[in-house]
Amino acid sequence: MAQAAVPHSQPVPLRIPVRELLPWALFAGVLALALVYFVGAEQGALSLFPGNAVHEFVHDGRHLLGFPCH
Ligand SMILES: [Zn+2]
Repeated sequence: MAQAAVPHSQPVPLRIPVRELLPWALFAGVLALALVYFVGAEQGALSLFPGNAVHEFVHDGRHLLGFPCH
């Protein structure tokens, strides 16, 4: 039995112009840098927030990523 040719559409790749992507990429980059700062350097003299709350909150991630700690 011959199958009828079923027309199927080809998937069209989604194109995102750089002009639309750039602000989000910049936002994600700044967010990532802030996160790396808080995980890696928010301690002691570099501390933005007084106390150990931020340091303790990200402490496991700090060790996981290999930042020097204690
Ligand atoms: Zn530690």
